[in-house]
Amino acid sequence: MKFNKLLENCKIYEAGKPIELVVREYGVKQEDIIKLASNENPYGTSTKVVKKIQELAKNMFMYPDDSMYELKEALGEKFDVNSKNVIIGAGSDQIIEFLIKAKCSENSKILMAKTTFAMYEIYGRQEGCVALKTEDGMHNLEQFEALYKEHNPEMIFLCIPNNPLGECLDKEEVYKFLEKVSSETLIVVDGAYQEYAAYKDPKKRIDPKELITKFPNAVYLGTFSKAYALGGMRVGYGIGDEAIIKTLYKLRPPFNITTLSLAAAIEALKDQEFVNECIKLNFKEMKRYEEYAKKKGFSYIESYTNFITFKFENKYISSDVAQKLLERGIIVRDLKSYSVNAIRITIGREDQNTKVFKVLDEVLDELKK
Ligand SMILES: *Cc1c(COP(=O)(O)O)cnc(C)c1O
Repeated sequence: MKFNKLLENCKIYEAGKPIELVVREYGVKQEDIIKLASNENPYGTSTKVVKKIQELAKNMFMYPDDSMYELKEALGEKFDVNSKNVIIGAGSDQIIEFLIKAKCSENSKILMAKTTFAMYEIYGRQEGCVALKTEDGMHNLEQFEALYKEHNPEMIFLCIPNNPLGECLDKEEVYKFLEKVSSETLIVVDGAYQEYAAYKDPKKRIDPKELITKFPNAVYLGTFSKAYALGGMRVGYGIGDEAIIKTLYKLRPPFNITTLSLAAAIEALKDQEFVNECIKLNFKEMKRYEEYAKKKGFSYIESYTNFITFKFENKYISSDVAQKLLERGIIVRDLKSYSVNAIRITIGREDQNTKVFKVLDEVLDELKK
């Protein structure tokens, strides 16, 4: 059967391996598996949110409030923007999809860093876009500028901080770059890990309201999947100029998040204390990973997120390390699919990380032989 020919150039997104697969394939007991592959919040969901969902579970026969009034109001208040500047998606992933569909068509150009969130290119290819990538893996704004000038792309993606590498541009350098970009170019600032970056270094903090006021052609993306610990609920948001948001609504399917997801996001926003505590612990534990890398003599990328990337250069092969960890029940992300000889590890809880170091010691010893 023939399908849409644009799909011939599309890759399937490779998600972090699920716990169930490790149980099935390697016979590791479910309770012994440590999953640090998808940058979920390892401290679990706030108990306040869990309680709320238990209370509301009986409502799942009903469609959610499609206007998402309460959540949009809460986000509007948090970021000091009008709810007309907000759109909710099934993860911020869905907003990326809306943005590309809204702006691009066949042969449109989209500009991004070489090693960045895979969904920009995947959604782009579905529309027949051409992905332009910088030579450097990490965000290099000089290279962005050169490619922008040469190709005049329809869209630019900035992942701040960047997944899967963890580096983070300064707000001021981002603004300086955006001043050179035409108001006809749609800018996406993906802030999936902004809560972490803003805590570690205020210079990295991007204020959505300031961003879209200075640059009405920019859209800010946020998610409940990481710091807010709701990855399984699939809630994200976009903040942008009213005219852009209105256009995105034309692409939004009805009831695009669930009744319980909506309630969970609203409740999660109320428990800021939980989020702050998780972020604090994250960076405390990250120090241990940095020290571990130094001790083992390989490098890491300074991270502004809830994960760290270990680079193996010519010391080890990342897929060997990831595979051996997997067989022992520790799931990390091999960056081989990004053509980088590195692994990305979500920063776990203290007990999990202690075990990671112990198992990693064994694995690296074995691979040395
Ligand atoms: C996790 C992530 C997202 C969005 O995830 P959703 O679960 O779809 O909200 C977006 N961008 C980056 C860079 C991410 O790491």
